Amino acid sequence: MITGWGNYIQRNYKANIYYPKELDSLKNLLSKKGLKSLSIRGNGRSYGDSSINKNILSLKKLKKIIKIDKQKLILYCSSNCTIGEINKELLKKNLFFKVSPGTKFVTIGGAIASDIHGKNHHHEGCFSNSVQEIELMTSNGIKIRCSKNKKKTVFKATAGGMGLTGVILFAKIKLKKIKSNYILEKKIISNNLKETLNHYKKYNNWEYIVSWIDMTATKSELGRGITYLGKHIKSNKKKIQQIENMKFFFPSFLLNNFFIIIYNKIFFYFSQIKKKKIVHLNHYFYPLDKIKNWNLFYGNKGFIQIQILLKEKNIYKNLIELIEFFQNKKIYSFVTTLKKLGKRNNNYLSFPDNGYTVTFDIKFNNQIELFYKKLEEKLIEMNAKIYLTKDSLMKRKHFEKSYFELKKFKKIKNKIDKKNIFQSFQSKRLFISE
Ligand SMILES: Cc1cc2nc3c(=O)[nH]c(=O)nc-3n(C[C@H](O)[C@H](O)[C@H](O)COP(=O)(O)OP(=O)(O)OC[C@H]3O[C@@H](n4cnc5c(N)ncnc54)[C@H](O)[C@@H]3O)c2cc1C
Repeated sequence: MITGWGNYIQRNYKANIYYPKELDSLKNLLSKKGLKSLSIRGNGRSYGDSSINKNILSLKKLKKIIKIDKQKLILYCSSNCTIGEINKELLKKNLFFKVSPGTKFVTIGGAIASDIHGKNHHHEGCFSNSVQEIELMTSNGIKIRCSKNKKKTVFKATAGGMGLTGVILFAKIKLKKIKSNYILEKKIISNNLKETLNHYKKYNNWEYIVSWIDMTATKSELGRGITYLGKHIKSNKKKIQQIENMKFFFPSFLLNNFFIIIYNKIFFYFSQIKKKKIVHLNHYFYPLDKIKNWNLFYGNKGFIQIQILLKEKNIYKNLIELIEFFQNKKIYSFVTTLKKLGKRNNNYLSFPDNGYTVTFDIKFNNQIELFYKKLEEKLIEMNAKIYLTKDSLMKRKHFEKSYFELKKFKKIKNKIDKKNIFQSFQSKRLFISE
């Protein structure tokens, strides 16, 4: 049984996973008679069913290529390399990605297909903003090079296109120079939502900003939290990083509302101890990677993450309403984060746009689907959008309303994937690949 990172099992099925070792075998697979549909899987860090289908293509066994031009600040790599594998080479040269996600276990293919964003979207935009060229294999086995200037519409459909236009094989990516592998991290406490939101105005010039929100605080403390600011600095501190491995599902009954309330309160008070420190870049960007398979913590039924984009207009009112909606229904998110997003790019299905994005991590139980249905009605009213790479439950109506360039996307998909080979359970659920 193969699942997304949330381990949330939605269907009973047996998946065939294909692992071509060479590009020719990949081409042969795509022309295989009887192959009706196929999803592409990077490293399975999307939370729901974006990379799942009855037939799955994994690029893990293809040769990995990493080439770095330090002078021109250009990376050329195969799409099956993970951010972590590339970082190992980049950091030796004091180079780094312009945009990095919250885990280094994401492949370049996955980063482009989801057009991921980091803690610096307000400055750098999405991952694809630094992608100069993509080499794509379409379902008829033809290789296409596309960029923001060449075959523009294929680029706009592929970056953020959730693997539905073709297989991303290689990419050319612009990098940035850094002074060391260390980050100055500053923690700012906020006692309510107004203060939390104000920090985004006050500290907008910091390179990186992300907040943790205490979802259990109510009344005058509602929306309180910790905002983590970060910037690259010069430092010679030695790297210390330990990796723990979670080997078993955590007993599900222990992660109950009582535990979550206590944990959030303790976290809020203990976080106030050290307000400024120098940390290794791995610690700042990828804190959860210290525990391998931390997703097992949510028990054997798994969990869902709901990542919502709320427009800047009415942000205070809408966030209050949303937090209270969760609290009234007694649905507690174990970890809740908030980030500011900047201007949207031109890609048809990319998620970010001017506003704030908030994530809720919720242990799965039988009421979640019903809860989600009610939440979705609220989100439609608020004109809010759900991030495809985190989604497990969105319905067609909400998707079509919030992804307003869907028609343009479908036009390109129909043109370059005539037989509609690239599909996932998510694309079927949302009728993207009809
Ligand atoms: C702990 C954690 C933190 C995260 N933090 C962030 C964050 O800060 N910002 C953010 O934006 N996201 C974040 N994510 C989500 C993650 O970055 C995306 O889900 C990413 O797409 C996962 O990459 P993957 O290689 O695991 O791809 P998969 O999960 O395997 O696939 C994701 C999508 O990419 C497609 N795809 C994968 N490889 C290819 C390819 N070669 N060609 C074409 N399509 C392909 C798949 O079909 C699928 O639609 C986080 C996830 C986790 C688990």
